[in-house]
Amino acid sequence: MRVWGQVMKQLFSKPFTNLFPAKYKPDSVTDYLQKVSKGEAAINPPVPVPPDFRGKIEYNRDKCIGCRMCISVCPADAIEFIPDTKKVKFYMTRCTFCAMCVDICPTKCIKMTDEFLMAVEDRNSLETIVG
Ligand code: SF4
Ligand code: SF4
Repeated sequence: MRVWGQVMKQLFSKPFTNLFPAKYKPDSVTDYLQKVSKGEAAINPPVPVPPDFRGKIEYNRDKCIGCRMCISVCPADAIEFIPDTKKVKFYMTRCTFCAMCVDICPTKCIKMTDEFLMAVEDRNSLETIVG
């Protein structure tokens, strides 16, 4: 009986996900995104992310003291120390979004944002590097 109750509840509840980026599945996502960049189509907004979502890193360079503690805890080797500036760079293509760097940073200059649209064709694109 509980199962049927759950099924009926699901039938009449709003979907938890939506089709993204288009409201209806396009024949080619690449073509669709090209149309979006030309202003010929609009992106279907994704569902809101839950609280404490761990998305793309935000880094406040001015607050960074170059202590390298973030590097010492990063399990993915996703953070590089730049000796000239004594600052760091985050490589989002390697990041596993564990937030250990956020937790250990003594000056709280690293934050995880709601941003999750990070797909790029070139994995070396500057868009994937924070810092
Ligand atoms: S979130 Fe985790 S994997 Fe990503 S840079 Fe920070 S410590 Fe490394
Ligand atoms: S832990 Fe914070 S202050 Fe230290 S190097 Fe990393 S980002 Fe900079």
